[in-house]
Amino acid sequence: MHVAFLGLGIMGRPMASNLVKAGHEVTVWNRTAGKAVEGARTAASPAEAAVGAEVIWTCVSDTKAVENVLFGPQGVHESLATGQMIVDSSTISPSATRQFAERVRAGGVQYVDAPVTGSKVGAESGTLIFIVGGEESAIEKLKPLFAATGKKFFRMGETGKGQVAKLAMNLQIALIYEGFAEALTLAAKLGVDASTMMPLIEASMVRSGVMEYKAPFVLKRDFSPNFPLRLMRKDIRLALEAAKEARVKLPALETVEEIYDMATEDGHENLDYAATLTLLEKWAGVEVKGASA
Ligand code: NAP
Repeated sequence: MHVAFLGLGIMGRPMASNLVKAGHEVTVWNRTAGKAVEGARTAASPAEAAVGAEVIWTCVSDTKAVENVLFGPQGVHESLATGQMIVDSSTISPSATRQFAERVRAGGVQYVDAPVTGSKVGAESGTLIFIVGGEESAIEKLKPLFAATGKKFFRMGETGKGQVAKLAMNLQIALIYEGFAEALTLAAKLGVDASTMMPLIEASMVRSGVMEYKAPFVLKRDFSPNFPLRLMRKDIRLALEAAKEARVKLPALETVEEIYDMATEDGHENLDYAATLTLLEKWAGVEVKGASA
């Protein structure tokens, strides 16, 4: 298929590269020039990238970035044609997603929200999971593209529902990781180090995919960004906004948001969200230590 891929960040670049490797004809665009993907054509604007593409696929930071790419100056809307499809793998507001879909639907363009889970490793290895909202006919056409970049997709309902489910997923990741970080901090302060804790965690019902993914990085104290703290903070805020609109109370997430705010004040926003641990360590006056599990 002919795909325009817009946004070559931690996630977008390997996704576009996997599309090329699977034999798709890919045109890429990134806001900051100089990023490219081997085997793909580079366009000068989203509008230029979108010309002739069957699918226009976005993976940028946040709601405003998606709006800019689609509807801003030299945005996709300037060259959008009937029959094209927009797929958004950014994690953004569900209500804004429905509005964006509405804006392009009048011109005969289908819109699918397909946020992902699997992080940097999943994007690089082509094992992402797509959390999809949109018409079944549109999703059917996207199957070869999901197969090239991921291992599974789940349709959550109509447009916007993919984003709803994605926020519900990241809510859990933020809380699970916070539990893990608090447990390691308490144990360390009381004299049980992380390498002693890890085999116990892994053998018990406490184990989780989040911990399995994060533990090696934490134990090596590698807080370089897989999923930057600023993006998890954005997702926590999106979940709290959606909860407010729906009159749902999320007290644990509200508390975790404060930790992300403080971690941001400490200058950790471009580190991985695992760096929230360092705040707990600072308060406890202890460092979590242990050889990598
Ligand atoms: P990233 O590395 O920070 O890349 C962000 C991308 O968005 C860059 O290409 C950036 O362009 C572009 N961008 C930012 N603001 C823009 C704007 N106003 N107009 C146009 N382009 C703009 O982020 P990422 O990790 O790839 O994440 C992308 C999306 O996937 C986010 O919504 C994130 O929440 C979601 N996600 C990430 C992960 C993960 O583990 N990293 C996992 C699941 C979902 P520049 O190069 O010019 O800055």
